[in-house]
Amino acid sequence: MIYETGAAVAGRGSDLLGDVGGEALARQGAGRSPASFGAAGQSTPLLEKLARSYWTEPADYAGVGQSPTSFGAAGQSPALMDYTDRSGELSRRASAAQPTLGGISVESIRSDFPILSERVGGYPLIFLDNAATTQRPNCVIERISRYYGREHSNVHRGAHELASRATDAYESARSAVARFIGAEDAGSIIFVRGATEGINLVANSFARPTLRPGDEIILTQLEHHANIVPWQMIASERGARLVAAPVDDCGQIILSEYEKLFNPRTRFASIAHVSNALGTVAPVGEMIAIAHRRGVPVCVDGAQSAAHMPVDVRAMDADFYVFSGHKACAPTGIGAVYGKPELLERGVPYQGGGNMIEDVTLERTRYQPPPRRYEAGTGNIAGAAGLAEALEYLTRIGMREIEKYEDALMLRLVSALADIPGLRVIGGLDARRVCAVSFVMAGRTPEEIGRRLNEYGIAVRAGHHCAQPCLRRFGLEETVRPSISFYNTFNEIDRLADALRVI
Ligand code: PLP
Repeated sequence: MIYETGAAVAGRGSDLLGDVGGEALARQGAGRSPASFGAAGQSTPLLEKLARSYWTEPADYAGVGQSPTSFGAAGQSPALMDYTDRSGELSRRASAAQPTLGGISVESIRSDFPILSERVGGYPLIFLDNAATTQRPNCVIERISRYYGREHSNVHRGAHELASRATDAYESARSAVARFIGAEDAGSIIFVRGATEGINLVANSFARPTLRPGDEIILTQLEHHANIVPWQMIASERGARLVAAPVDDCGQIILSEYEKLFNPRTRFASIAHVSNALGTVAPVGEMIAIAHRRGVPVCVDGAQSAAHMPVDVRAMDADFYVFSGHKACAPTGIGAVYGKPELLERGVPYQGGGNMIEDVTLERTRYQPPPRRYEAGTGNIAGAAGLAEALEYLTRIGMREIEKYEDALMLRLVSALADIPGLRVIGGLDARRVCAVSFVMAGRTPEEIGRRLNEYGIAVRAGHHCAQPCLRRFGLEETVRPSISFYNTFNEIDRLADALRVI
């Protein structure tokens, strides 16, 4: 069967979404012929190959071990199979197989996150907006409460017991961040509000003092606005300019073009590790090596990589690496900048105040050594304690396990999306994606799709994702962007695909 009638779709929806969901889907899908969902899907032989390679991988992930074709008639292309039929079967297998990450079942991981039991509009919440922010496990929520209940004071300032408890929490969090990203030591970690403040700090304290009129800063077409605007601000002040490495139609940076951008006026480069709009991954190791051969320092925007793959800032030889805690199961308002120790020694603080000084007269100020000289004022101490707890939680599960499981989820997601008639996945279907994927659908605005999915309890982002130059490279102003985390399930992906077929 290639397509089935609306009534059959509705029946299947009932299976997948539970009673309430099934009824609502039944009403939506009833009477609609599949042809009304749009033009033929986007499956390609390459995607099918990819999907098959995943489905025949080790059986510790749900739905694996089954070739997609085994769910349809012999010889029938998975691209042509009825998707709802296949996803229904896969979902049942997925729930039966109980995927695990390093021996911990996804179900048990999910039970750590109270918000995942929420219902939205009568449906179980399906949270696929993880590129915007992730959810918090109980241990992080409890850590914040414990901090305020038993440890809170200001740091570094008092001789009393609570001051040392708070200082211990703050400083041991710095060590936890250093361990998590493979930094030399806690001294190379600066606490900031998040990736945005981190990039502003790098731009102002380390790049700005080196800029002269006519100098250039290299970015890429994939950047989030947080990795464009701060550079624009310092460039316009100093008479410098930004240049951007182009990406190809698959969303991959064209390395040869990136290399050509370097010249004697190049002072700095700043690149996203993972694109928040497309999910594509930059070859940061190679890009940093190219920059270093010309003596140019590189800042890596790790907002979308830190929580999704093992990161080793020294192995990649990053001069700076920034990330946001809230995208890694930690509280909002806390993040970190890694800087090579010799570079941190040379920077010029761009914010002044308490905490960052060693001695002040009315004429001059002597700063603290790094990292404190870059942390003016009272920091987010509770946030830092929560960040440490979150990073330890991720480490207990294992970043390799998280990466492997999310890779499998992403393959399933891209494969499911590509099979939906009228849906266009942005970038190459066979590109490796981390966390996020963007798409548009014929005849529907992204905003409308986001709203309709929300009616089924499915949270995705619709809009420009603060990456307008990136979307415009693909001729778009907005997309729909589902984005995953390690607590998502194959079943949720299949339910998203089912909902997209009927809305
Ligand atoms: N860089 C990238 C790639 C992002 O995805 C984001 C947020 O979505 C940021 C920077 C900014 O992060 P924050 O808003 O946490 O500062």
